[in-house]
Amino acid sequence: MSKNSHVTIYEYDAVIVGSGLAGLAAARELTLAGKKTAVITKLHPLRSHSGAAQGGINAALGKEDSTELHEFDTVKGSDYLADQDCVELMCTKAPETIRWAERMGAVFSRNEEGNIAIRPFGGQSQPRACYAKDRTGLTLLQTIYEQAYRAGIEVYDEWYAGDLLYKEGKVSGVVAYNIKDSQVAIFNAKVSMFATGGHGRAYRFNSNAHANTGDALSIVARHGLPLEDMEFVQFHPSGLGGSGVLISEAARGEGGRLYNSLGERFMEKYAPNAMELASRDVVSRAIMEEVRQGRGVGKDGQSVKLDLTHLDPEIILTRLPELRELAIAFQGQDMLKEPIHISATAHYSMGGIPTNINTQVQKNAAGDLVEGFYAAGECSCVSVHGANRLGANSVLEALFFGRHAGENMLKALNEGITLRPAKPEDAQRFIDEMNTIKTSNGSESVPKLREELQAGMTADAGVFRSKTSLERQLKLIDELLERFKNIRIDDKSNTFNTDLQEALELGHMLEYSKFIVVGALEREESRGGHYREDFPERNDEKFMVHTYATMDKAYQINIEWGKVTPGKFDPMERKY
Ligand SMILES: Cc1cc2nc3c(=O)[nH]c(=O)nc-3n(C[C@H](O)[C@H](O)[C@H](O)COP(=O)(O)OP(=O)(O)OC[C@H]3O[C@@H](n4cnc5c(N)ncnc54)[C@H](O)[C@@H]3O)c2cc1C
Repeated sequence: MSKNSHVTIYEYDAVIVGSGLAGLAAARELTLAGKKTAVITKLHPLRSHSGAAQGGINAALGKEDSTELHEFDTVKGSDYLADQDCVELMCTKAPETIRWAERMGAVFSRNEEGNIAIRPFGGQSQPRACYAKDRTGLTLLQTIYEQAYRAGIEVYDEWYAGDLLYKEGKVSGVVAYNIKDSQVAIFNAKVSMFATGGHGRAYRFNSNAHANTGDALSIVARHGLPLEDMEFVQFHPSGLGGSGVLISEAARGEGGRLYNSLGERFMEKYAPNAMELASRDVVSRAIMEEVRQGRGVGKDGQSVKLDLTHLDPEIILTRLPELRELAIAFQGQDMLKEPIHISATAHYSMGGIPTNINTQVQKNAAGDLVEGFYAAGECSCVSVHGANRLGANSVLEALFFGRHAGENMLKALNEGITLRPAKPEDAQRFIDEMNTIKTSNGSESVPKLREELQAGMTADAGVFRSKTSLERQLKLIDELLERFKNIRIDDKSNTFNTDLQEALELGHMLEYSKFIVVGALEREESRGGHYREDFPERNDEKFMVHTYATMDKAYQINIEWGKVTPGKFDPMERKY
């Protein structure tokens, strides 16, 4: 460790940003192998959003199930945009991943024979979601944190990563600051990994933690590196009306039914076979269509009813206790006694930092690699979810590809990677960004700009999109980017300065939101979570491609298209 003016330089074999399932799984592998590994996280690890996952984690464990069926459902769910080699790897490794988690101490719910219980989830042809009541993510996060801690990981918690050390195609660490006292440090490392989770906070109604502000995406993009498939945002059918807080798909998996204000079980019209368990994009559009046609419920008519009153109360009390508590706390509705009000909510980001099957970050649509840089979990786009993710495939992705990233980083370290030493000046760009925010004396407020962004994203880049709505949102983002230069934060101190952190986060949200909107504008078709009212059909001829978008210094976005890896499953029309 060396100290120069205000910038401390730490040296590590590996630095990992993010301590959710993906980051911790990687950190554990590296630490167990004796590599000096730092984990940087803006939250305590156990507050990472992985801990909020309720419903389950997929693995083909059922007697009638197979990994091939899991692959098929995943590829079909993705609307054929997933890379099939990556899907095959993840699905084949899913049962082993469950056993690995179990052996580390994760307590899964059991069936009557004493085996790991599985429940049905949307878009699956067999019950496949393993679970720990409705606290699956928390159980897994506690287990992996405990085991990573036992292995001796070094955690820098309440540290905020603000920049990447990137030069000539090589990453050699990150720049971060300690939220406690605003001290900036460089984490110089031979290999670096981003595992920073989702970015749903760009939307007004979302199911995500406050920390899910997608910082890493624009950090990467600011270096001219691409982001992949950003237009694909998943809207989950069941957020609590008015807040977006998640009611897991497990509620429908266990038998919950959807009704409109006329008492019609409207999914009969939209997905006569799968009904409430059609894939998420299909159910979300059905809900929003009922609302648009004036058949919504609730004070503002923006919700529909999710009814579980026909179920044995024991099922709710033993398998969905947390969901019941959430609906009581936020809405005063007890699902044992009455239907609860739900509406579509921004939930998951299919797009992100492009990686190859071995979690190495790509620097262009052709697939050339950035040296020493890895990404896994929700911030990455490998891509196993394509245009739409199936429920319970994401915790699996984070755990499996997180561990896989750890193994690949380890391999790279063992093969020998030289450390490009960092200099204190490498932190200057980020220090300038912090100082500009602190000294800016304008008239705009961060929460106000954020609210405008979020309201616009939900209204104009949400479940339904069109050229008109997207152009409106693009114009708004450009205005907000200008107004952001004229902000003022009240807290100028260096101690737990949340005003500063929120301003940094808003800067990121504005930038990656622009990727979502421009990608959605350019993709003139409807596929998975991306639905264009002016182009309602999927167009395989033109758009069976991944979007790779880069941003220049003037925030202009340029798009290239990259190949989708085909496999055993040929594209078909997607019906449920
Ligand atoms: C309410 C909810 C329920 C869900 N339920 C399910 C489910 O049942 N099944 C399923 O498969 N999926 C589910 N998902 C999705 C799934 O939980 C996530 O996709 C997955 O857990 C993401 O894991 P991760 O490790 O990539 O990121 P996260 O767990 O989100 O962790 C991100 C980490 O990055 C850190 N970080 C971010 N930015 C910075 C920065 N600038 N500096 C420092 N640290 C930073 C954070 O501190 C955090 O530690 C759910 C998601 C939500 C929101």
